[in-house]
Amino acid sequence: MGEPVHINSLNLVCNIEKELGSGTQGKVYSLISPDNTPLVLKWYFPSMATKEQYDILLSLIQKESPSNRFLWPLAIVKTSNKEGFGYVMSMKESRFKSFSLWLSRKIDPSFKALLTACYELVQSFHLLHSKGLCYQDLSLNNIYFDPKNGDIRIGDTDNIVINGENKGNVIGTPKFMAPEIIVEQALPNTQTDLYSLAIILFYILFLNHPLEGKIESSIKSLDLPSMSKLYGFKPIFIFDPSDDSNYPDPAFHANALIFWKIYPNFIKRIFIRAFTNGIKDPLHGRVRETEWQIALLRLRDALYYCRQCGSENFLDTDSLVSEKLKIPVELGGVNFDSKVFKQSSIVVSARSNTVCWNPKCRTKNTSILNIQIDDRMYVALNHDTKLFLHHIDPDRKYDFSSPVAEVSRHPSDPQVWGLRNLSANPWKVGKTNGVVIKVYSNQSFSLVPGTSIDFGTSKGMVCY
Ligand SMILES: [Zn+2]
Repeated sequence: MGEPVHINSLNLVCNIEKELGSGTQGKVYSLISPDNTPLVLKWYFPSMATKEQYDILLSLIQKESPSNRFLWPLAIVKTSNKEGFGYVMSMKESRFKSFSLWLSRKIDPSFKALLTACYELVQSFHLLHSKGLCYQDLSLNNIYFDPKNGDIRIGDTDNIVINGENKGNVIGTPKFMAPEIIVEQALPNTQTDLYSLAIILFYILFLNHPLEGKIESSIKSLDLPSMSKLYGFKPIFIFDPSDDSNYPDPAFHANALIFWKIYPNFIKRIFIRAFTNGIKDPLHGRVRETEWQIALLRLRDALYYCRQCGSENFLDTDSLVSEKLKIPVELGGVNFDSKVFKQSSIVVSARSNTVCWNPKCRTKNTSILNIQIDDRMYVALNHDTKLFLHHIDPDRKYDFSSPVAEVSRHPSDPQVWGLRNLSANPWKVGKTNGVVIKVYSNQSFSLVPGTSIDFGTSKGMVCY
């Protein structure tokens, strides 16, 4: 402790403050830096301080971090009195917590925060993979989130290599490794990263491993051969629609059963694909990051609060979309261009999981206000909903930099909710009586079903 650490490439001398932890590769220390920048030193155990690891670090330091969510290596550190080397990275702020706190239910983040964390995670790995890099050892142990807003940080970045180079000391973490690694048919690559990512997303949203069902609970001792079978040689998704041999055991996997009922079908279909085709066909069957991104944002937009207990529930926009896509008008489908849609079918078009999932509540929620934007998306309109360029401008997908609209309460009548224009551009709002008004910056209009909004870059319709 107090030992000076010379970081020559950053022209900095720090002092070791304390040991933060010890892993399989080395020990991690907090540093006291002259300008109080929170920094961390990871010092490798002698067996891990290989030339290969040194080269990996050097190459990472020369590259730019894909985003500030990665705790990227900043500099290699050597000392004269100690053999080996280590590296310095930024320290994550204390607001970032381990997901294990959520899995053990010691913290209770909102669905909104969890979905934001899932989205940020997928987006970060999309950025990493699009740089031709591969993480190799993705697990819940090296990602952290802020339970309040879902911001994430990704640690242990010192195993990131160029995809296909097959370098480094790691092949992954048990339970998160792709089956083809376990059966020794592949080494970590971006496709195996995608598999680990799907496991993480499933864990976060369903609080259960996707392959741990009644086969797992029937095993008396989970030794290496039985683990290899469960996660590698014979992996069966617990909700595989064509094979129920590994269905969750209610005595051990209650979370999976509870959460499977809460989410809309469209997200469950993606998980089914990730753990059926995604297992059988590692090369083409895996769910891509962009697909997760779209689905996770759609799920976040589907959130609404139960009127009785305030619990977050999901609007099943699945049926709304399928209605639009598949069911002919004469058979009860919706013609979105017709006056009929404006006048009546919007009132009956809500097909949501209307009964609150909260077992203590079970209230039936009807007439959940939402906005349909072009044919692309539905956003539930809650008291705290904000719309971003992502929602209204097809050319600015994933742009959440600043809100362009927010739900607001009428200043004199709290029963009336409106949508406030936070953008610089005026909207054309078509009221239900046919009158079209302009809504300028900072003005609002009342959220009455059947009202249409021309945002300029897209068109919206307020629905129930
Ligand atoms: Zn409720």
